[in-house]
Amino acid sequence: MSYMRSLKCRECGKEYPKEALHVCELCFGPLEVNYEYDRIKEALTRHAIEKREPNMWRYKELLPLDGDPSVGAQVGFTPLVRAKNLGKALGVKELYIKNDAVNFPTLSFKDRVVSVAISRARELGFQIVACASTGNLANSVAANAAACGMESYVFIPHDLEQSKVLGTLVYGATVVSIKGTYDEVNRLCSEIAGKYGWAFVNINIRPYYAEGSKTFGYEIAEQLGWKLPKHIIVPMAGGSLITKISKAFKEFQKLGFVKQTDTRIYGAQAAGCSPIINAVKEGSELIRPVKPNTIAKSLAIGNPADGYYSAKVIRESGGWGESVSDEEIIASMKLLAETEGIFAETAGGVTLGVTKKLIEQGRIPKDESIVVCVTGNGLKTQEALHGKLNEVTVINSRLAEFDELVKANGKEYALKA
Ligand SMILES: *Cc1c(COP(=O)(O)O)cnc(C)c1O
Ligand SMILES: [Zn+2]
Repeated sequence: MSYMRSLKCRECGKEYPKEALHVCELCFGPLEVNYEYDRIKEALTRHAIEKREPNMWRYKELLPLDGDPSVGAQVGFTPLVRAKNLGKALGVKELYIKNDAVNFPTLSFKDRVVSVAISRARELGFQIVACASTGNLANSVAANAAACGMESYVFIPHDLEQSKVLGTLVYGATVVSIKGTYDEVNRLCSEIAGKYGWAFVNINIRPYYAEGSKTFGYEIAEQLGWKLPKHIIVPMAGGSLITKISKAFKEFQKLGFVKQTDTRIYGAQAAGCSPIINAVKEGSELIRPVKPNTIAKSLAIGNPADGYYSAKVIRESGGWGESVSDEEIIASMKLLAETEGIFAETAGGVTLGVTKKLIEQGRIPKDESIVVCVTGNGLKTQEALHGKLNEVTVINSRLAEFDELVKANGKEYALKA
């Protein structure tokens, strides 16, 4: 049974049928899925959710499908880690990592949006799925399309990390690399969607796709014992995830699942691509596009589709935003790995680096609950760390050589009697 009523323009409120539409024909505003919340409130309780399987579909009443998902039944319910060591390093009392570096099946939060988008595309009768991607979306579209037997086309900028390209090809997707930035890839994809009529998950299926990100927020609330954190730091590319975490928290308030309404939402971008942060800092409603230049390629969108709404979410929540350099990104990837044993991708370095900065600036207090959103896996962005870690030590398989090594490192260990 579905609780999805219609698509609705975020600007003028005009309602549309639940089809592959994404822009309002009256005002060009973005369309968003509109639910029957009164009916959801009658049908759904916290207790009912708790009894369900640990995956994102435990919130299915709040997701935009008419029937059951056709792919991605195991996606979501990733760990919310109480990060005591990292908290100590940052001097804060209550710190958590929401860890989508281990999301199923392609190790980023994109599996949440893709399982919804592809399932919806199938309900709408599409045969071919496609996407414009900064890397993780490519992996997820290719994998999930393969899992439900659909053909997929993946369009990427030419300078992506090797693992992200290989981790797309392996599923049999047709990968098209464009000589240009993500924003140029995206523009081409809009044209292809118009001409070939395929389901581009983040273009013509975007209203459904974006709803999948809400589950990241629902899970945080449930895993905190049906509470919202006081502060949450979210990485931003197109700016969809941050707006949907906000929507998730508001929906849980509306349904009576959580009480607080005072979560401050902070945005994180790389200094080499920070169009949304620039607008937040300038107090401007206008997002000025930039040309990306950063190792955080998954976040390298210079003209973010939801930039305006992201800045608004941040402003209205009383949050703020920051950006960090490539050096700070790497330092934070190492800090997270060394303190918590979590290997996040460059986007995780961005989010943690920004968190650190905001705590140092006194914008985030040290004695309130903080959630840091880790959205992708470090194994996919290994290039960023080449030459930045300790060297491997090579010796022959002789005990004497190991003894020398210990000595050379200036270490002294008690030997077995
Ligand atoms: C896509 C992506 C994001 C941000 O997504 P938006 O919803 O476009 O802002 C964050 N982290 C990672 C690792 C991503 O791949
Ligand atoms: Zn409109």
